[in-house]
Amino acid sequence: MKLIDGKRIAADIRAELKEEAARLEKRLCRPAGLAVVLIGEDPASQVYVRNKIKACEEVGIRSFAHYLPASATQKEAEELVCALAQDKNVDGILVQLPLPAHLDAQKVLACIPAQKDVDGFSAENLGLLARGEEGVVACTPLGVMELLRRSGVELRGKRAVVIGRSNIVGKPMAMLLLNADATVTVCHSRTQDLAKICAEADVLVAAIGKPRFVTADMVKEGAVVIDVGINRVDGKLAGDVDFENVAPKASLITPVPGGVGPMTIAMLMMNTLTCARRQLA
Ligand code: NAP
Repeated sequence: MKLIDGKRIAADIRAELKEEAARLEKRLCRPAGLAVVLIGEDPASQVYVRNKIKACEEVGIRSFAHYLPASATQKEAEELVCALAQDKNVDGILVQLPLPAHLDAQKVLACIPAQKDVDGFSAENLGLLARGEEGVVACTPLGVMELLRRSGVELRGKRAVVIGRSNIVGKPMAMLLLNADATVTVCHSRTQDLAKICAEADVLVAAIGKPRFVTADMVKEGAVVIDVGINRVDGKLAGDVDFENVAPKASLITPVPGGVGPMTIAMLMMNTLTCARRQLA
Protein backbone atom coordinates (compact mmCIF):
# COMPACT_ATOMS: atom_id res chain seq x y z
CA MET A 1 0.00 0.00 0.00
CA LYS A 2 1.18 3.50 -0.82
CA LEU A 3 -0.27 6.63 0.66
CA ILE A 4 -1.30 9.47 -1.66
CA ASP A 5 0.03 12.53 0.16
CA GLY A 6 -2.52 15.20 -0.75
CA LYS A 7 -0.93 17.73 1.55
CA ARG A 8 2.41 17.52 -0.25
CA ILE A 9 0.86 17.43 -3.72
CA ALA A 10 -1.32 20.45 -2.90
CA ALA A 11 1.76 22.36 -1.67
CA ASP A 12 3.58 21.51 -4.94
CA ILE A 13 0.59 22.78 -6.92
CA ARG A 14 0.39 26.02 -4.93
CA ALA A 15 4.10 26.61 -5.66
CA GLU A 16 3.49 26.04 -9.38
CA LEU A 17 0.46 28.33 -9.30
CA LYS A 18 2.50 31.06 -7.64
CA GLU A 19 4.66 31.27 -10.76
CA GLU A 20 1.60 31.20 -12.99
CA ALA A 21 -0.05 33.97 -10.92
CA ALA A 22 3.04 36.17 -11.30
CA ARG A 23 3.09 35.64 -15.08
CA LEU A 24 -0.63 36.44 -15.30
CA GLU A 25 -0.27 39.55 -13.16
CA LYS A 26 2.16 40.97 -15.74
CA ARG A 27 -0.24 40.29 -18.59
CA LEU A 28 -3.35 41.53 -16.76
CA CYS A 29 -1.53 44.56 -15.23
CA ARG A 30 -3.18 43.58 -11.92
CA PRO A 31 -3.23 40.46 -9.76
CA ALA A 32 -5.87 37.80 -10.40
CA GLY A 33 -8.74 38.37 -7.97
CA LEU A 34 -11.01 36.05 -5.99
CA ALA A 35 -14.07 37.37 -4.14
CA VAL A 36 -15.21 35.25 -1.21
CA VAL A 37 -18.68 35.87 0.21
CA LEU A 38 -19.53 34.64 3.69
CA ILE A 39 -23.04 35.12 5.01
CA GLY A 40 -23.64 34.43 8.68
CA GLU A 41 -21.35 33.19 11.44
CA ASP A 42 -21.11 29.42 10.86
CA PRO A 43 -17.79 28.50 12.57
CA ALA A 44 -16.81 25.80 10.03
CA SER A 45 -17.49 28.22 7.15
CA GLN A 46 -15.35 30.86 8.87
CA VAL A 47 -12.44 28.42 9.01
CA TYR A 48 -12.88 27.45 5.33
CA VAL A 49 -12.99 31.11 4.26
CA ARG A 50 -9.89 31.93 6.32
CA ASN A 51 -8.01 29.02 4.70
CA LYS A 52 -9.05 30.14 1.23
CA ILE A 53 -7.86 33.69 1.87
CA LYS A 54 -4.58 32.35 3.24
CA ALA A 55 -4.07 30.24 0.11
CA CYS A 56 -4.73 33.33 -2.05
CA GLU A 57 -2.00 35.22 -0.18
CA GLU A 58 0.44 32.34 -0.66
CA VAL A 59 -0.22 32.03 -4.39
CA GLY A 60 -0.36 35.78 -5.14
CA ILE A 61 -4.08 36.09 -5.85
CA ARG A 62 -5.82 39.19 -4.50
CA SER A 63 -8.72 38.19 -2.26
CA PHE A 64 -11.80 40.31 -1.65
CA ALA A 65 -13.61 39.07 1.45
CA HIS A 66 -17.23 40.16 1.87
CA TYR A 67 -19.09 39.38 5.06
CA LEU A 68 -22.84 39.77 5.50
CA PRO A 69 -24.66 39.13 8.77
CA ALA A 70 -26.89 36.06 9.18
CA SER A 71 -29.84 38.47 9.00
CA ALA A 72 -28.98 39.52 5.41
CA THR A 73 -31.93 39.54 3.03
CA GLN A 74 -32.13 37.67 -0.27
CA LYS A 75 -31.95 41.04 -2.06
CA GLU A 76 -28.79 42.10 -0.17
CA ALA A 77 -27.08 38.78 -0.93
CA GLU A 78 -27.99 38.89 -4.62
CA GLU A 79 -27.02 42.56 -4.97
CA LEU A 80 -23.58 41.86 -3.50
CA VAL A 81 -22.91 38.95 -5.86
CA CYS A 82 -24.23 40.90 -8.85
CA ALA A 83 -21.89 43.80 -8.02
CA LEU A 84 -18.94 41.38 -7.85
CA ALA A 85 -20.01 39.96 -11.21
CA GLN A 86 -19.47 43.46 -12.69
CA ASP A 87 -16.19 44.13 -10.86
CA LYS A 88 -13.27 44.05 -13.31
CA ASN A 89 -10.75 43.23 -10.56
CA VAL A 90 -12.67 40.08 -9.61
CA ASP A 91 -11.99 37.00 -11.77
CA GLY A 92 -13.72 34.47 -9.55
CA ILE A 93 -16.61 34.57 -7.08
CA LEU A 94 -17.12 32.03 -4.34
CA VAL A 95 -20.19 32.03 -2.11
CA GLN A 96 -19.41 29.93 0.95
CA LEU A 97 -22.14 27.34 1.53
CA PRO A 98 -24.32 26.58 3.38
CA LEU A 99 -26.22 29.87 3.47
CA PRO A 100 -28.56 30.74 6.37
CA ALA A 101 -31.79 28.74 5.98
CA HIS A 102 -33.98 31.72 5.01
CA LEU A 103 -31.90 32.39 1.87
CA ASP A 104 -32.40 30.67 -1.48
CA ALA A 105 -28.84 29.54 -2.26
CA GLN A 106 -29.62 28.63 -5.88
CA LYS A 107 -30.85 32.15 -6.60
CA VAL A 108 -27.74 33.69 -5.03
CA LEU A 109 -25.44 31.32 -6.97
CA ALA A 110 -27.33 32.13 -10.16
CA CYS A 111 -25.95 35.70 -9.91
CA ILE A 112 -22.43 34.35 -10.55
CA PRO A 113 -21.64 34.43 -14.29
CA ALA A 114 -20.22 31.13 -15.62
CA GLN A 115 -16.88 32.86 -16.41
CA LYS A 116 -16.45 33.73 -12.70
CA ASP A 117 -17.92 30.50 -11.31
CA VAL A 118 -14.73 29.18 -9.67
CA ASP A 119 -16.69 26.43 -7.92
CA GLY A 120 -17.98 25.06 -11.22
CA PHE A 121 -21.50 24.73 -9.78
CA SER A 122 -23.38 26.57 -12.53
CA ALA A 123 -25.64 24.76 -14.96
CA GLU A 124 -23.44 26.04 -17.79
CA ASN A 125 -20.21 24.66 -16.33
CA LEU A 126 -21.82 21.35 -15.33
CA GLY A 127 -23.26 21.13 -18.85
CA LEU A 128 -19.86 21.75 -20.43
CA LEU A 129 -18.39 18.99 -18.26
CA ALA A 130 -21.18 16.61 -19.28
CA ARG A 131 -20.38 17.38 -22.92
CA GLY A 132 -16.66 16.87 -22.31
CA GLU A 133 -15.97 20.51 -23.21
CA GLU A 134 -13.79 23.07 -21.50
CA GLY A 135 -15.41 24.90 -18.59
CA VAL A 136 -14.74 25.29 -14.88
CA VAL A 137 -14.85 22.03 -12.93
CA ALA A 138 -15.88 21.71 -9.26
CA CYS A 139 -12.78 21.91 -7.06
CA THR A 140 -13.06 18.65 -5.09
CA PRO A 141 -13.53 16.24 -8.01
CA LEU A 142 -10.94 18.21 -10.00
CA GLY A 143 -8.57 17.73 -7.06
CA VAL A 144 -9.20 13.98 -7.09
CA MET A 145 -8.32 13.82 -10.80
CA GLU A 146 -5.11 15.75 -10.13
CA LEU A 147 -4.20 13.33 -7.30
CA LEU A 148 -4.79 10.36 -9.62
CA ARG A 149 -2.79 11.96 -12.45
CA ARG A 150 0.15 12.89 -10.26
CA SER A 151 0.13 9.41 -8.70
CA GLY A 152 0.41 7.84 -12.17
CA VAL A 153 -2.98 6.09 -12.06
CA GLU A 154 -4.05 4.95 -15.52
CA LEU A 155 -7.83 5.38 -15.93
CA ARG A 156 -8.46 4.33 -19.52
CA GLY A 157 -10.58 1.18 -19.61
CA LYS A 158 -10.52 0.81 -15.81
CA ARG A 159 -13.59 0.14 -13.67
CA ALA A 160 -14.30 3.20 -11.53
CA VAL A 161 -17.01 3.31 -8.87
CA VAL A 162 -18.16 6.58 -7.27
CA ILE A 163 -20.28 6.36 -4.12
CA GLY A 164 -22.36 9.54 -3.90
CA ARG A 165 -24.22 11.53 -6.54
CA SER A 166 -24.21 15.10 -5.25
CA ASN A 167 -23.93 17.95 -7.74
CA ILE A 168 -20.72 19.19 -6.14
CA VAL A 169 -18.82 15.91 -5.75
CA GLY A 170 -20.35 12.63 -6.97
CA LYS A 171 -21.81 13.68 -10.31
CA PRO A 172 -18.92 15.82 -11.59
CA MET A 173 -16.51 13.13 -10.30
CA ALA A 174 -18.28 10.47 -12.35
CA MET A 175 -18.26 12.69 -15.45
CA LEU A 176 -14.53 13.42 -15.10
CA LEU A 177 -13.73 9.72 -14.78
CA LEU A 178 -15.94 9.00 -17.78
CA ASN A 179 -14.21 11.73 -19.79
CA ALA A 180 -10.93 10.03 -18.86
CA ASP A 181 -12.19 6.80 -20.49
CA ALA A 182 -12.92 4.86 -17.30
CA THR A 183 -16.01 2.65 -17.13
CA VAL A 184 -17.98 4.36 -14.41
CA THR A 185 -20.68 3.21 -12.00
CA VAL A 186 -22.33 5.68 -9.61
CA CYS A 187 -23.78 4.32 -6.36
CA HIS A 188 -26.15 6.10 -3.97
CA SER A 189 -28.51 5.43 -1.10
CA ARG A 190 -30.91 3.43 -3.29
CA THR A 191 -28.24 1.24 -4.90
CA GLN A 192 -28.70 -2.50 -4.48
CA ASP A 193 -25.68 -4.79 -3.98
CA LEU A 194 -23.49 -1.76 -3.31
CA ALA A 195 -20.73 -3.79 -1.65
CA LYS A 196 -20.50 -6.15 -4.64
CA ILE A 197 -20.33 -3.25 -7.13
CA CYS A 198 -17.61 -1.52 -5.09
CA ALA A 199 -15.59 -4.74 -4.91
CA GLU A 200 -15.28 -4.68 -8.72
CA ALA A 201 -13.69 -1.23 -8.77
CA ASP A 202 -10.12 -0.60 -9.86
CA VAL A 203 -10.65 2.96 -8.64
CA LEU A 204 -13.11 3.55 -5.80
CA VAL A 205 -14.14 7.09 -4.83
CA ALA A 206 -16.13 7.51 -1.62
CA ALA A 207 -18.15 10.76 -1.26
CA ILE A 208 -20.92 9.83 1.12
CA GLY A 209 -20.49 11.65 4.43
CA LYS A 210 -20.68 8.55 6.62
CA PRO A 211 -17.64 7.62 8.71
CA ARG A 212 -15.97 4.27 7.87
CA PHE A 213 -18.74 3.38 5.40
CA VAL A 214 -16.32 1.62 3.03
CA THR A 215 -15.10 -1.56 4.69
CA ALA A 216 -12.37 -3.98 3.57
CA ASP A 217 -14.82 -6.50 2.08
CA MET A 218 -16.00 -3.79 -0.35
CA VAL A 219 -12.53 -3.25 -1.80
CA LYS A 220 -10.72 -5.27 -4.46
CA GLU A 221 -7.13 -6.29 -3.79
CA GLY A 222 -4.88 -3.65 -5.39
CA ALA A 223 -7.62 -1.04 -5.87
CA VAL A 224 -6.96 2.71 -5.74
CA VAL A 225 -9.12 4.15 -2.95
CA ILE A 226 -9.96 7.87 -2.78
CA ASP A 227 -11.70 9.07 0.36
CA VAL A 228 -13.51 12.39 -0.12
CA GLY A 229 -15.49 12.17 3.12
CA ILE A 230 -14.98 14.61 5.97
CA ASN A 231 -16.73 13.51 9.16
CA ARG A 232 -16.23 14.45 12.75
CA VAL A 233 -16.00 11.48 15.13
CA ASP A 234 -15.29 12.17 18.81
CA GLY A 235 -13.83 15.55 17.87
CA LYS A 236 -11.49 14.01 15.27
CA LEU A 237 -11.70 14.04 11.47
CA ALA A 238 -12.58 10.74 9.82
CA GLY A 239 -13.16 9.84 6.20
CA ASP A 240 -15.80 7.61 4.62
CA VAL A 241 -13.31 4.73 4.42
CA ASP A 242 -12.34 2.37 7.22
CA PHE A 243 -8.72 3.31 6.56
CA GLU A 244 -7.05 0.89 8.96
CA ASN A 245 -8.62 -2.21 7.40
CA VAL A 246 -8.88 -1.02 3.80
CA ALA A 247 -5.32 0.33 3.44
CA PRO A 248 -3.61 -3.11 3.46
CA LYS A 249 -5.74 -4.17 0.45
CA ALA A 250 -5.35 -0.96 -1.56
CA SER A 251 -2.45 -0.22 -3.92
CA LEU A 252 -2.93 3.51 -3.31
CA ILE A 253 -5.12 5.28 -0.76
CA THR A 254 -5.74 8.83 0.44
CA PRO A 255 -5.73 9.57 4.17
CA VAL A 256 -8.21 11.85 5.99
CA PRO A 257 -7.06 14.45 6.83
CA GLY A 258 -4.25 15.15 4.36
CA GLY A 259 -5.71 13.56 1.22
CA VAL A 260 -8.43 15.18 -0.87
CA GLY A 261 -9.09 18.10 1.51
CA PRO A 262 -5.95 20.17 0.78
CA MET A 263 -6.48 19.61 -2.95
CA THR A 264 -9.86 21.34 -2.92
CA ILE A 265 -8.33 24.70 -1.99
CA ALA A 266 -5.41 24.22 -4.40
CA MET A 267 -7.95 23.64 -7.20
CA LEU A 268 -9.86 26.76 -6.16
CA MET A 269 -6.64 28.70 -6.73
CA MET A 270 -6.15 26.92 -10.07
CA ASN A 271 -9.73 27.70 -11.16
CA THR A 272 -9.31 31.38 -10.20
CA LEU A 273 -6.21 31.62 -12.40
CA THR A 274 -8.01 29.78 -15.20
CA CYS A 275 -10.88 32.31 -15.05
CA ALA A 276 -8.37 35.19 -14.99
CA ARG A 277 -6.48 33.77 -17.98
CA ARG A 278 -9.71 33.51 -19.95
CA GLN A 279 -10.27 37.25 -19.41
CA LEU A 280 -7.27 37.75 -21.69
CA ALA A 281 -8.60 35.62 -24.51
P1 NAP B 1 -24.15 14.89 0.06
O1 NAP B 1 -24.67 15.97 -0.81
O2 NAP B 1 -24.79 14.63 1.39
O3 NAP B 1 -24.23 13.53 -0.79
C1 NAP B 1 -23.98 12.29 -0.21
C2 NAP B 1 -24.21 11.20 -1.21
O4 NAP B 1 -23.99 9.95 -0.55
C3 NAP B 1 -25.64 11.17 -1.76
O5 NAP B 1 -25.63 10.97 -3.15
C4 NAP B 1 -26.28 9.98 -1.04
O6 NAP B 1 -27.22 9.27 -1.80
C5 NAP B 1 -25.07 9.09 -0.79
N1 NAP B 1 -25.33 8.23 0.35
C6 NAP B 1 -25.72 8.60 1.60
N2 NAP B 1 -25.91 7.52 2.36
C7 NAP B 1 -25.65 6.44 1.59
C8 NAP B 1 -25.68 5.04 1.80
N3 NAP B 1 -26.03 4.51 2.99
N4 NAP B 1 -25.35 4.24 0.78
C9 NAP B 1 -25.02 4.75 -0.41
N5 NAP B 1 -24.96 6.06 -0.69
C10 NAP B 1 -25.28 6.90 0.31
O7 NAP B 1 -22.61 15.06 0.35
P2 NAP B 1 -21.45 15.72 -0.54
O8 NAP B 1 -21.54 17.19 -0.49
O9 NAP B 1 -21.35 15.05 -1.86
O10 NAP B 1 -20.17 15.31 0.33
C11 NAP B 1 -19.85 13.96 0.58
C12 NAP B 1 -18.73 13.90 1.62
O11 NAP B 1 -17.61 14.56 1.10
C13 NAP B 1 -19.04 14.61 2.93
O12 NAP B 1 -18.39 13.93 3.97
C14 NAP B 1 -18.42 15.97 2.76
O13 NAP B 1 -18.06 16.57 3.99
C15 NAP B 1 -17.19 15.60 1.97
N6 NAP B 1 -16.64 16.68 1.17
C16 NAP B 1 -15.32 16.85 1.23
C17 NAP B 1 -14.71 17.83 0.49
C18 NAP B 1 -13.23 17.96 0.55
O14 NAP B 1 -12.71 19.02 0.24
N7 NAP B 1 -12.51 16.89 0.91
C19 NAP B 1 -15.47 18.67 -0.32
C20 NAP B 1 -16.85 18.46 -0.40
C21 NAP B 1 -17.42 17.45 0.35
P3 NAP B 1 -28.65 9.90 -2.24
O15 NAP B 1 -28.33 10.84 -3.36
O16 NAP B 1 -29.43 8.72 -2.67
O17 NAP B 1 -29.18 10.59 -1.03
